[in-house]
Amino acid sequence: MFGPLEDIKIKSIYHGADLPKNMARCTPDMLNALQGAAADVKSAGGELILSDLYRSYDMQLQAHLDYVTGKKKAFSPPPGGSMHEAGRAFDLDLSTLKMKLSDFWKIAAKHQLQPIIDTPSAGALEAWHFDCRGSHGLVYDYYAAGKGDNFAKPYTAMAASAIVSTGVKVDTLGGDPLTGFVQSGLIRLGQEIGDLDGRLGPKSRAGIAALEIDSDASAQSIAAEIDKLLQKKFPQEYFVEGAHELALADLPISLTTVVPAVRPAYEPSQANKAVLGKVADLLKTAAPIGQSFALQPAFLGILPGQCLYFDCELQLDTDGWPEGKGKGDDDWDPKTSLKYVDRKTSLNANAVPYIVLPLPKSWTSNRGISLGDYAAVIHKGNVTFAVFGDEGPADKIGEASIQLLRALGEERLKPNGRVINAGTEPGIITIVFPGSGRAADLKDQPTLTAAIQSEGARLFKELTT
Ligand SMILES: [Zn+2]
Repeated sequence: MFGPLEDIKIKSIYHGADLPKNMARCTPDMLNALQGAAADVKSAGGELILSDLYRSYDMQLQAHLDYVTGKKKAFSPPPGGSMHEAGRAFDLDLSTLKMKLSDFWKIAAKHQLQPIIDTPSAGALEAWHFDCRGSHGLVYDYYAAGKGDNFAKPYTAMAASAIVSTGVKVDTLGGDPLTGFVQSGLIRLGQEIGDLDGRLGPKSRAGIAALEIDSDASAQSIAAEIDKLLQKKFPQEYFVEGAHELALADLPISLTTVVPAVRPAYEPSQANKAVLGKVADLLKTAAPIGQSFALQPAFLGILPGQCLYFDCELQLDTDGWPEGKGKGDDDWDPKTSLKYVDRKTSLNANAVPYIVLPLPKSWTSNRGISLGDYAAVIHKGNVTFAVFGDEGPADKIGEASIQLLRALGEERLKPNGRVINAGTEPGIITIVFPGSGRAADLKDQPTLTAAIQSEGARLFKELTT
């Protein structure tokens, strides 16, 4: 649904280490621009080293408070006004560039990175800050042309548009980013809707209708349609892989010769393909998620229509299993992230088939996925169903409860009640249905396990036929 943020590995000023994970996130087009600019700086003899990139709502609030209380000199606006919060701005160390700022401006321009000051004067405040505006530059232009007037500056409107499009709230646009996202999309798709204000008034509705979207549909489905149009118009803001291929083309010949050939197209196993139906076709236009994990899936991406799809081995998760203490999994935790309606009771890993998806929360929420959503899991041509029941480390994808592995024919409990702490072979497909969870299904274990089977089967049939 919302625009994705990707993890990036890039050097930081912090003891020469990579930028810390919570800051090392950005949009796909920013990722591409940063990698391109870093390569250019390097070939000119310098180094692109960052002091700041992504800031969450809370990190931005802290930066603002530090500025207000005089702890930090650099201006930092309150949350909702900085491109850092959208993964679309970075701050760099000017001293390691080993070039004049005006020369770095040329490199930046080549990669569509914009400085925030008017002239390249290295001594100026914010000389270190660069934005990747992407299509949100259109919102800047829209406000600069006076088509909206509820923001102090076109820049603030652009930042709000960029932030809300990652699924993060902007206070002035209301508590839910969805309507702001729809309006930002309308403006970027060329509609004139007056102010970007988080309210779908008559002008916004007219803009929706002008794009041939049913303006009486739910905000959710309007947003899904807008999202499709945005992905089509601005693919570089959604997909990393194509961007990488472009970057390869820019490399000097001597380097391209050692670059490995493009990875062969992903194919599910024959047995699994036999039950995938229409999904086999959807895979051809799926958008890969360019991120590395401890155990790299053969494929990880978003199918047209927004389902998350990955093909990998599954590791055992025993969290929430009441008898799990000391039974063989050192990582056992009595709690799962998803709870029943009493908000206390966790899912029993030995009774409920559940999958685990990586943290941070935005990894799933940016893709419209919430705890409690349903999934289909396919192994050797057998289809079974699961619920997104637990969150795990950011570098791990492909974990399943004891009951899910059992349903896949992989029993992990020994007769003596201890677990065999082993995962599966590679080649298991998981398809997650975003927004499919229903609060009522979390009444108790029998209700949930029944819903997993019935909803899972229904959604899978809908997707594959
Ligand atoms: Zn900055």
